[in-house]
Amino acid sequence: MSGPDAHVLILGAGHAGGTAAALLRQYGFAGAITLVGEEPVAPYHRPPLSKAWLRDGAAAPLPLKPAEFYAANGIDFRPGIRAEKLDRPARMVTLSTGEVLTYHFLIIATGARPIKLPVAGSDLEGVLELRTAADAERLRAALGAGRRLAVIGGGYIGLEVAASARALGAEVTVIEREARLLARVACPELSAVFLDYHCKQGVGFELAATVSGFEGQDGRVSGVRLDDGRTIACDAVLIGVGAAPNDELARDAGLDTACGVIVDLEARTADPAIFAIGDVALRPMPIYDRMFRMESVPNALEQARQAASAIVGRAPPPGEVPWQWSDQYDLKLQIAGYAFDVDRVLLRGDPATARFAIFHLKGDQVQCVEALNSPQDFIFGKQLIASRKSVDLGKLGDPAIALKEIAA
Ligand SMILES: Cc1cc2nc3c(=O)[nH]c(=O)nc-3n(C[C@H](O)[C@H](O)[C@H](O)COP(=O)(O)OP(=O)(O)OC[C@H]3O[C@@H](n4cnc5c(N)ncnc54)[C@H](O)[C@@H]3O)c2cc1C
Repeated sequence: MSGPDAHVLILGAGHAGGTAAALLRQYGFAGAITLVGEEPVAPYHRPPLSKAWLRDGAAAPLPLKPAEFYAANGIDFRPGIRAEKLDRPARMVTLSTGEVLTYHFLIIATGARPIKLPVAGSDLEGVLELRTAADAERLRAALGAGRRLAVIGGGYIGLEVAASARALGAEVTVIEREARLLARVACPELSAVFLDYHCKQGVGFELAATVSGFEGQDGRVSGVRLDDGRTIACDAVLIGVGAAPNDELARDAGLDTACGVIVDLEARTADPAIFAIGDVALRPMPIYDRMFRMESVPNALEQARQAASAIVGRAPPPGEVPWQWSDQYDLKLQIAGYAFDVDRVLLRGDPATARFAIFHLKGDQVQCVEALNSPQDFIFGKQLIASRKSVDLGKLGDPAIALKEIAA
């Protein structure tokens, strides 16, 4: 059912939910669309919150669409409202206002939330996390010349915040449990480059260090206690140790979840009327022959396209190579694919120049490319992943041979 009497209810007004609403109209959906979001604002771009927005201090986060877009397109946008309960047999959702909405199609786009650190002192003032614009406001208020920020977690968000905080004059110490940065998401060579670059910018590091608690004075955080007994003094803490999917609504309603709502290549759950998209979804990745939950804007957009296409009866969009990016100082890292089951790593370029790419291969097929300040390597590496073409390793490792030729 996708005629004028149909109703699509979208839960979560973030990147995925906001895009799905817009695409449904773009694809000619004539029925009613309701977009329910817990945050008080219209969908906005989250990536700048740890990067340009934090550093440069714009007043409001960058909206996905102009404020008037939703009403002008007949999208009933309900900010500041949480979906509390899903009743699948009745096709009803209960909202935090007590209102009950029915649907023909439901899109769950509730995203993910920062993982908490279960240690003493986590509730002290100044212990912060970063997911929403409101979180970013709090973080920015805690930064400035001479302020001491401890960042827990040396992943992308932690390092991006470290770079932005340095630009604002803060003193930054990054505390990471693993022996290297970006341990879950990047290869050791790249970790070493980022460590070196951040050190040169004045960031301090505690690697292979476990946080045992936070110390406070008058209710405000004053230090991070490590399990070797030392304390890192600070004025604020940012916890950036990963995110967990907001999949409880789906799980409580009996949908299959496994750290994410399980969907197919149409972003549809086992219930044909219900889709799950974006950070909350555990989705198939045909290129790698496995299920995976991704946390990236391109993934949110791709799945919004899948769900909107399925609802209007449009041909499914072509499969995409997953990709993401990270900006730190003048470093632009672009990553295509995932380094699953790889048996070889090949460097193209010279890390000393901060312009190079690392290719991860399974045999002679590229599975993943991490390109630093090297957009050509990213673009053609992504093409190679999609084509599953066998490559000549000698040529791939030789920066004098244009990747365009190898990918053609
Ligand atoms: C600081 C930061 C930097 C990032 N940088 C990058 C980057 O450089 N590149 C990149 O590709 N990705 C980046 N990401 C990840 C990217 O922003 C996410 O992958 C993307 O926002 C996912 O979109 P989503 O709609 O699934 O989730 P979200 O954008 O999180 O939206 C989910 C929305 O649902 C709402 N919600 C949750 N539960 C309910 C409920 N029960 N009822 C109603 N509403 C609910 C939430 O409040 C939220 O507004 C970054 C994320 C953060 C936080």
